[in-house]
Amino acid sequence: MWSLQQQLDKRQADGLYRSRRVTDGPQGPELLVDGRRMLTFCSNDYLGLAADARLADAVKRAVVRYGVGAGAAHLISGHSAAHDALEEELAAFTGRERALLFSTGYMANLGVISALTGRGDSVFGDRRNHASLNDGCLLTRARFRRYPHADVAALRAQLAVARGNALVVSDGVFSMDGDVAPLAELAGVAAEHDAALMIDDAHGIGVLGPRGQGSIAAAGLDAAAVPLLMGTLGKALGTAGAFVAGSQALIETLIQQARPYVYTTAMPPAIAEATRVALRIATDEEWRRERLHGLVQRFRHGARQLGLRLGDSTTPIQPVVLGDTATANRWGAALQRAGILVGTIRPPTVAEGTARLRITLSAAHSAAHVEALLSVLGEIAAGEAA
Ligand SMILES: *Cc1c(COP(=O)(O)O)cnc(C)c1O
Repeated sequence: MWSLQQQLDKRQADGLYRSRRVTDGPQGPELLVDGRRMLTFCSNDYLGLAADARLADAVKRAVVRYGVGAGAAHLISGHSAAHDALEEELAAFTGRERALLFSTGYMANLGVISALTGRGDSVFGDRRNHASLNDGCLLTRARFRRYPHADVAALRAQLAVARGNALVVSDGVFSMDGDVAPLAELAGVAAEHDAALMIDDAHGIGVLGPRGQGSIAAAGLDAAAVPLLMGTLGKALGTAGAFVAGSQALIETLIQQARPYVYTTAMPPAIAEATRVALRIATDEEWRRERLHGLVQRFRHGARQLGLRLGDSTTPIQPVVLGDTATANRWGAALQRAGILVGTIRPPTVAEGTARLRITLSAAHSAAHVEALLSVLGEIAAGEAA
């Protein structure tokens, strides 16, 4: 067999080695990481719900009623009353006819794209789409083309020569840059060419729009403009899994044909019950979004004063673009020595020359947490300049 170790060694030498840390204790800004207490700015727990006691209580009650595992796929005997109720509530929350649960967002994206398109069709995706959308586009037999980031004119030109049914897929909020897709323009160009538009709102649901309904509602668009909405439950909603919302015909088609739906065990019913509670909290507790957006403003203001290169983002995803991999690794390591954990994102996850720190904020952070981060970033910037 070819040498795996040699490939791993090369990855290590290139500064691209990925490794895991072991965390302990309830999810939150202060976490035990490899046994050390760290202040973290890298989780997607935007509303601070992952460790909420009300979600934990819902899990405990549901485990008594349902047990732990779902036992089977949704189409066999795994679709519980908890799953069914959550689907109805997600449909109402997103203003769509139906919603369908998936075990993860990754699987939802694979499932939707491969169920709706096939040989002879065309799929178009933004160059900065999440890996799971790209993988879905590679899995389908349809022709897959990527358009330059947020470039609606380029997409229009590609659609003009599309064959078969055309599907356009985009992140609502881009996961590495935090910017919002040009949703109204995408909906317009999709309608012009009779293409279907699918938005992956993993980072918009719970965070943006009225009552946290996401980036589509924030842009004032409805189900007619964006017939396919995918959202995840493991980010702002603090649990796990994902859903697709849309028309009755769409959901029935997915139930028949989406292989990552059909051939996998349903999420544990207790997770569905906890998500129902999370959805109510996310809808009702507007203060969480207000606090979160206030912290984002505070961070951006402070970072600008330090002369850091921020992205064009008003969302809780705040990239600090540093350039090459070595620089990003150096900043990440310096933050860690100071007890702060942020994402260090390098190629190939982002384009060459745009290695970055990916800082994410949460309603669970305090103003003091953000000040502590800015203070350490300031020290590192001063050290680099010296
Ligand atoms: C996290 C994420 C996913 C995957 O969702 P999981 O439930 O974690 O599998 C899909 N799309 C985007 C944009 C994401 O950020």
